[in-house]
Amino acid sequence: MAYVINDSCIMCGTCAGNCPVDAIAQGDSQYTIDADKCISCGTCAGNCPVGAIAEG
Ligand code: SF4
Ligand code: SF4
Repeated sequence: MAYVINDSCIMCGTCAGNCPVDAIAQGDSQYTIDADKCISCGTCAGNCPVGAIAEG
């Protein structure tokens, strides 16, 4: 199951810079994860300062 970013994202960009498969991109109002690329490593969830990322 891929990880998902919710609307509490403050667009800091930390997650995108640390994703090993480049699955995270900046959207209009929050960052988003490409479920087809995500390998569910959990790195992004562990580094998000506001806890906006969880397994979907
Ligand atoms: S769980 Fe891992 S692979 Fe998936 S988006 Fe987060 S950092 Fe990238
Ligand atoms: S680390 Fe968290 S707050 Fe920062 S861009 Fe990613 S989801 Fe948003």
